Amino acid sequence: MMTTISTRLAVLGSGPAGLTAAIYAARAGLSPIVIQGIQPGGQLTTTTDVENYPGFRDVIQGPWLMEEMQAQAEHVGTKMVWDHISSVDLSRRPFVLKGDNGTEYHADTLVIATGAQAKWLGLPSEEHMKGRGASACATCDGFFYRGKKVAVIGGGNTAVEEALYLTNHSHDVTLIHRRDSFRAEKILQDRLFANDKIKVIWDSEVVEFVGGGDPEALVGLDIRNRRTGGISRVDCDGAFVAIGHAPSTELFADQLELDEDGYIKVEVGTTKTNIPGVFACGDVMDKIYRQAVTAAGTGCMAALDAEKFLAAEEYQALAAE
Ligand SMILES: Cc1cc2nc3c(=O)[nH]c(=O)nc-3n(C[C@H](O)[C@H](O)[C@H](O)COP(=O)(O)OP(=O)(O)OC[C@H]3O[C@@H](n4cnc5c(N)ncnc54)[C@H](O)[C@@H]3O)c2cc1C
Repeated sequence: MMTTISTRLAVLGSGPAGLTAAIYAARAGLSPIVIQGIQPGGQLTTTTDVENYPGFRDVIQGPWLMEEMQAQAEHVGTKMVWDHISSVDLSRRPFVLKGDNGTEYHADTLVIATGAQAKWLGLPSEEHMKGRGASACATCDGFFYRGKKVAVIGGGNTAVEEALYLTNHSHDVTLIHRRDSFRAEKILQDRLFANDKIKVIWDSEVVEFVGGGDPEALVGLDIRNRRTGGISRVDCDGAFVAIGHAPSTELFADQLELDEDGYIKVEVGTTKTNIPGVFACGDVMDKIYRQAVTAAGTGCMAALDAEKFLAAEEYQALAAE
């Protein structure tokens, strides 16, 4: 039997963006619901040490931080719902969201915080070494490799930027690319080639993340030269896969304006999408910063934008009476 839940504000996603939006919306008296999706707590639940979220002098654990955020959201009046949304209708209000568990959600306003997923190479050894030296975020984890050897895999802007960023911590950065030229912008390439801490290995793909020691940690990458077929080892303590991100926007593809990479477009300086009453925050609309604190920041903006939108509507309705 289908159940219907009506709300003034539905938040889709329970990462830092969605939970921060919920905290602000609840404190504004909007009684929001958060639909958590299949990854309650979002991407940070897949990592261990977090050292750059403000407010904590010691290293904290990603899953713990997200449990605290959820508890705070509930404490101020958010209703958490465990469901995954499989279709949305944003053509009329209230907006309608259909959940896998048979519930239909009717929302006066919607905050989309469905995040993005880093793309990985898909090797079993890569999966095994996640958290032991394999990472997809130099800004997040680069600091842990101070004075150590690191490798970056990729050839676009992100890969070149991550290699350059890592030279703040490491004097030995190897960039491994499957082709013989980069897709990255020329200005980034110029900076890369001028940096003597970075060496480039062309025409090569990673075939194995190699671990060693006790506790086990990454010791190197086995790479195959795509021209010769030869296998060689790149010694490194950290390997950063930088082959792009995929924003979770399939649900909205025909309804919201997306940019060329599939991220939700918002009005500059706000979280407003092209549909009045629909707001987007966090990694799903931000392909540049992709940090927990920036996701939380835009989550706050989305709740404030939604609150203003509803208040303006109420004022207009009163004025028309
Ligand atoms: C391994 C790793 C380590 C990281 N380390 C750090 C770090 O140290 N510091 C830092 O600042 N950042 C770090 N980040 C980045 C940070 O996690 C992200 O920037 C942040 O989580 C983005 O938050 P978000 O709320 O926008 O989205 P996400 O955290 O991606 O959350 C998305 C949410 O949307 C939900 N969702 C998606 N689709 C649906 C659907 N159809 N229906 C319902 N729900 C849905 C998911 O279940 C999830 O709850 C790391 C990321 C990774 C992967």
